[in-house]
Amino acid sequence: MTRRRPRIVIVGAGFAGYECARTLSRTAKGAAEIVLLNPHDYFLYVPLLPEVAAGILEPRRISVSLTGTLPGVRLVLGQAHDVDLDARRVAYTDPEDREGTLDYDRLVLTVGSVNKLLPVPGVAEHAHGFRGMPEALYLRDHITRQCELAGAAEDPRERAARTTFVVVGAGYTGTEVAAHGVLFTDALARQNTGLRDGPRPRWLLLDIADRLLPELDERLSRTAERVLRGRGVDVRTGTSVKEATSDGVLLDDGEFVDSRSLIWCVGVRPDPLVDSMGLPTDRGRLCVDAYLGVPGHPEVFACGDAAAVPDLTRPGKVTPMTAQHAQRQGKVAARNVAASCGHGAPRAYEHHDLGFMVDLGGVQAAANPLHIPLSGPFASAVTRGYHLMAMPGNRVRVAADWLLDAVLPRQGVQLGLVRSWSVPLDTETPEVARVPR
Ligand SMILES: Cc1cc2nc3c(=O)[nH]c(=O)nc-3n(C[C@H](O)[C@H](O)[C@H](O)COP(=O)(O)OP(=O)(O)OC[C@H]3O[C@@H](n4cnc5c(N)ncnc54)[C@H](O)[C@@H]3O)c2cc1C
Repeated sequence: MTRRRPRIVIVGAGFAGYECARTLSRTAKGAAEIVLLNPHDYFLYVPLLPEVAAGILEPRRISVSLTGTLPGVRLVLGQAHDVDLDARRVAYTDPEDREGTLDYDRLVLTVGSVNKLLPVPGVAEHAHGFRGMPEALYLRDHITRQCELAGAAEDPRERAARTTFVVVGAGYTGTEVAAHGVLFTDALARQNTGLRDGPRPRWLLLDIADRLLPELDERLSRTAERVLRGRGVDVRTGTSVKEATSDGVLLDDGEFVDSRSLIWCVGVRPDPLVDSMGLPTDRGRLCVDAYLGVPGHPEVFACGDAAAVPDLTRPGKVTPMTAQHAQRQGKVAARNVAASCGHGAPRAYEHHDLGFMVDLGGVQAAANPLHIPLSGPFASAVTRGYHLMAMPGNRVRVAADWLLDAVLPRQGVQLGLVRSWSVPLDTETPEVARVPR
């Protein structure tokens, strides 16, 4: 059967892919078939993931239904593993391990990123990353379990090790995980008879750089450091991990920290699918032009974390891996895909950085919207308001969870559905929990 409408296949439904699909579905009005290939049926609002790990938000709150919010877009569940650029075909594996293919007239690659690894002994075996929902659910359970086991432990050394949590990487992910984490473990300790009168759970936040949030405005770093230190977090800059074992972490200054929890937030690398395509890359990101097109392949576009998009506001550089850019690039990609099909004119991607918001939990945040530095409860309100506005759905549900968290004690229960081996650090699919074959 021949296809009459051009088929646009978007691979990946994160910030870039979701926005691209949404914009195309609104503008194409049935003139093109829009297919979205993604391993799961939701758009994950990643910036609120630390709040899931800390038991503030239930996981479905930040998981926005793709079929429910993208009318006119056909969702295909699957993980792309091969792109045949000559045949214009994407091969994928669906959640029941069946193989499938999708022919395309236009392809938009928005596969995002995965955990970055460093060649540190023991880290791949003993650390867990923080990039997808399974890892956040694992961490929430793991923290709860460690506190419960510590509360029942007779040996004070074991109790101390189980209530010591080490976060490596003080970018926005690690800083938010530590900031929310310490409030979570304090809440769990208050509820546990075995911990209530003992020493407080201990959190360490390490970074090789000389300040927290090294990639952001220094004023945000100062605010974050003040808040974290005020909560008792042991902030160690200029420090890294030399080795990880099942009993703890050896730091590069020679200190051994007894711990059962190593949370690896050293950053991300582009999804390995990009590498498999044999096209030019820049530090693993697919090279594209300012119109988000892949040179030499006018029918292929890429954007978001997976693509090296020239930053026209900073000549010679590429745009950073942020949701702020990915979302806007998705919109421009949709416009340029439509233009390549003869509808409208293409536009180069250009966006001036609007600042950043780091939610520190409680009523604290470090933010610089429009480069105006903010801290304290006002920054927290602005940050939460921004997240609500930026989410494409589930806003009332998220706001309801925030309200409940403000008036009720944190729910300290572990469901144990995601096991340690389901969320290995070294994975090409942090968004999918590994299951036994
Ligand atoms: C904890 C955390 C907090 C963050 N907070 C902020 C913030 O506050 N502000 C900000 O600007 N940025 C933030 N970021 C960064 C931001 O989340 C990313 O830059 C953004 O998600 C990138 O969007 P993307 O569309 O390129 O990729 P993603 O959002 O990662 O989406 C990629 C999609 O592709 C799918 N996929 C991957 N491989 C395949 C494949 N082979 N086949 C099919 N589908 C595939 C994935 O399942 C996913 O749905 C944060 C990141 C983390 C981890």
